[in-house]
Amino acid sequence: MSRPASTAPKCAICRRPAVAEFRPFCSKRCADVDLQRWFTGAYAVPAVEQEEVSDDED
Ligand SMILES: [Zn+2]
Repeated sequence: MSRPASTAPKCAICRRPAVAEFRPFCSKRCADVDLQRWFTGAYAVPAVEQEEVSDDED
């Protein structure tokens, strides 16, 4: 497993190294993408997820 020589955080969207200006993202584009996801999740909450135990277990 090889890792970059940097300990800089990776962009949560595309996994590229984040840059200070857009931390924790690599670009405004990715920051916007994350923001969109956030708003989507906040305002368009889907129906309750299936919390029931799958009959695949137990
Ligand atoms: Zn990115």
